[in-house]
Amino acid sequence: MPICEYSCHACGQHFEHLLLSSRPETHEVSCPQCQSREVHRMLSAFAVSSEGIREANLQRAKEAHRPIARDKRVSEDQQQQRIADEHN
Ligand SMILES: [Zn+2]
Repeated sequence: MPICEYSCHACGQHFEHLLLSSRPETHEVSCPQCQSREVHRMLSAFAVSSEGIREANLQRAKEAHRPIARDKRVSEDQQQQRIADEHN
């Protein structure tokens, strides 16, 4: 899913918005800081500058999910350890 970068005319905030449809012009995007609808999609900036932002967002997303993921991974590890023990 594409993520588009926006800038807010009212307060100058830059933010990203996840596009859930292929027609972004139909989206009602508002500034997360001031809730203004006076936002401008930054098409050209996306490819140039969003890589680091996307990395940061991915990192944040991973951190947000980490407790669940780690619990799952631990239990899978324990299960594999049990299986290994049974075979030994
Ligand atoms: Zn704003």
